[in-house]
Amino acid sequence: MIPVVKTIDEVRNYVKAWRREGRTVGLVPTMGFLHEGHRSLIENDCVVVSDFVNPTQFAPNEDFETYPRDIEADAALCESAGAKLIFNPEPSEMYHDALTTVSVDKITKVLCGKTRPIHFNGVCTVVSKLFNIVMPDRAYFGQKDAQQLCVVKKMVKDLNFDIEIVGCPIIREKDGLAKSSRNTYLNAAERKAALCLARALSTGRKMICDGEKDTERVADAIRAEIEREPLARIDYVEIVDLDTLEPARDASSHILAAVAVYIGKTRLIDNFIID
Ligand code: AMP
Repeated sequence: MIPVVKTIDEVRNYVKAWRREGRTVGLVPTMGFLHEGHRSLIENDCVVVSDFVNPTQFAPNEDFETYPRDIEADAALCESAGAKLIFNPEPSEMYHDALTTVSVDKITKVLCGKTRPIHFNGVCTVVSKLFNIVMPDRAYFGQKDAQQLCVVKKMVKDLNFDIEIVGCPIIREKDGLAKSSRNTYLNAAERKAALCLARALSTGRKMICDGEKDTERVADAIRAEIEREPLARIDYVEIVDLDTLEPARDASSHILAAVAVYIGKTRLIDNFIID
């Protein structure tokens, strides 16, 4: 069975042994409760999956306590996907009286950063720590969290981490809903309502593929489609430049169309890119 380790020293010992054998190392940072979206990130190399619900990226009113956890199921999925090690630390192993944080300016203040102002500081700090603990050649992130991917790429560039960041496509349920650990919060009616995100985004993408260049018109169409769903409440619908995350005018290239929508109490995100 795949080893599940709790301490930084144990991770370092495994990685040192792989390095002595000349193997490359991949890192897949997750918060656990793994699904096929996570599995798609476990690709090759000696892969370490970190499985850590990171308290510092949740605000007090968010779902840190109730976030689903199932380390045994996670270990089975990681094993079957070919990962070599799971790092499942306690918060005390990651943060003893820490006074240092890592923050990326500007691109963390838009989109999800508006409703979740501390979120990306928590993400950048924990991801930096994981990079320093595992020292991987490559780290894998899903495009499902497109802003996170953009922020991590910028942080790696700005801080000269010698790590290749690999972005991986969004894995969806058969009916189009983007896979997410938070989908388990949805009751049957909400699960059906949640399809409005993918439906609206596919309307927007089709408009662009059919030649629409005006991002306002595309965003309005996406909004209108979501507003047709009574259980949905829009947090944001935005079309932005893929690197700067500033509002884009021309929808035809290098854009991220991103939405965050509350379905009942559950906040879901989804997006597409045109590059
Ligand atoms: P999380 O456990 O939600 O923090 O996600 C860990 C990693 O898995 C992040 O890089 C996510 O972007 C990625 N991920 C989550 N859901 C999906 C999905 N449906 N498709 C692809 N990647 C995903």
